[in-house]
Amino acid sequence: MRPITYFFSLLLTLLIGSCGPQTTEVDILLKGGKIIDGTNRSAFVGDVGIIGDTISFIGNADESNLRAKQVVDASGLTVCPGFIDPHTHALGDLDSKERKQNINYLTQGVTTVFVGNDGRGPFDVAKISEKLSSAGIGTNVAFFVGHGTIRQEVLGTKDVAPNEDELDEMKTLVRKGMEEGAFGLSTGLYYSPGSFSTTEEVIELTKEIVPYEGVYESHIRDESSYNIGLINAVKETIRIGEESGAPIHFAHIKALGVDVWGKSAEVIQLVEEARGRGITVTGDQYPWKASGTSIRGALVNRWVSEGGNDQYKKRLNDKNLLPKIRAEIKENIRRRGGAESLLISANYKDKDMIGLTLAEISDKMGLDPVETALAIERNGGASVASFNMNEEDIINFMTQEWVMTSSDGSTGHPRKFASFPEKYRRYVVENQVLTLENFIYKSSALTASTFTVEKRGSLKVGNFADVIVFDEDEYNPRANFSEPTNLSEGVKYVLVNGQLAIENGNLTEALSGSVLRRNQ
Ligand SMILES: [Zn+2]
Repeated sequence: MRPITYFFSLLLTLLIGSCGPQTTEVDILLKGGKIIDGTNRSAFVGDVGIIGDTISFIGNADESNLRAKQVVDASGLTVCPGFIDPHTHALGDLDSKERKQNINYLTQGVTTVFVGNDGRGPFDVAKISEKLSSAGIGTNVAFFVGHGTIRQEVLGTKDVAPNEDELDEMKTLVRKGMEEGAFGLSTGLYYSPGSFSTTEEVIELTKEIVPYEGVYESHIRDESSYNIGLINAVKETIRIGEESGAPIHFAHIKALGVDVWGKSAEVIQLVEEARGRGITVTGDQYPWKASGTSIRGALVNRWVSEGGNDQYKKRLNDKNLLPKIRAEIKENIRRRGGAESLLISANYKDKDMIGLTLAEISDKMGLDPVETALAIERNGGASVASFNMNEEDIINFMTQEWVMTSSDGSTGHPRKFASFPEKYRRYVVENQVLTLENFIYKSSALTASTFTVEKRGSLKVGNFADVIVFDEDEYNPRANFSEPTNLSEGVKYVLVNGQLAIENGNLTEALSGSVLRRNQ
């Protein structure tokens, strides 16, 4: 270095140095909280500073002479990343004027929801994204493009295979969804019309998401003993990952019904073997013994739905078909755990029946459970909470390093309002199956890395400020099967992209959620 240059650089250093320790100002400072950063690292006490929509500081604010426009006293509270829910049915809420704030998720501490699961995601992702962005939403949202939606668009609801042109058309729609920002392809192979597709069809379509680094996310063909059986359905999913080259993700992993109770060990072994072969395999899970579906979804076999609703209703009254339908419903009631395990939860025209089990309704109507189910279906159907899982399998899945938290929130089931605090209360505090750090990791950073949600899911300088502050003693589910829409308690502050959506326990009117796009 030439002397003259050296002189000026020394002068510059002295000038900067003479300003004393650096002082900066943040917009919001969460001060003195127990910080759990989401990465499974142990908790530590410290301060989190936010400028605009970004985390700008983590450490000791006093030592760093950090000033703040607004200070939140987080002492005695826990500060962690906002939760990411990889399986919701919240698109209808986000797209409604009244419910776009998504308060049932904000009050659980969820700041990002995935939508479009079970094969039902849109392929015109840009159009719906634009609509949500301009109206404003309370949480972030991320999309899956849906195989069922695409199949219905190209082939209708028929039990047919696509010809070459039709398959090309379906591939084009998958690419369109991915191009427009979806994070992966979802399938619902248990449901019509996804159930009518072959494994090969699904592999061909899944190949289309590989250039976009998308994830194949699936409600598998059978979580029970309905058709190919749980184990074969797991094998099918793994094969789809192996032959397409895409990471695979099991939606709401479970062993559904008495025939497959105890099979979690075998499922886990298959997943571990696949992971050992280099396939990326993950899953999510909601912490409830009851799944949520409909009488039709749970009890009526798929062939009855083929061709759409009119055909369905016709078949339910067809004397020649009824013996077969009755026998299948009877077997499905047994498989699910009996008529007392099916609780009518919503959407039934006869409102007095909501909150009663199929067994109780059957008594009231003076019909056997099979005829009662048929009567409900002929009257427009009903949602149902189906108590069909055992605790051992739930815990076995929950404790796998590749299983994360989800809600699968649906109308009439408390999971839409309370899955995250339910898991915390039951499995962290009461049963101590998970540590608090691990629960938070499985609800944030693990989900972010699985689906490549960039700059979210952990507290890190430079990440988006999706942050929650909650009281460990007060964080509680309030929704249950008789009151499924009670909001959860104990989350004191929620920041979505740096804006307070909950402040001092109260909802604000902020609509600071973003539509997230993969690869942007
Ligand atoms: Zn599902």
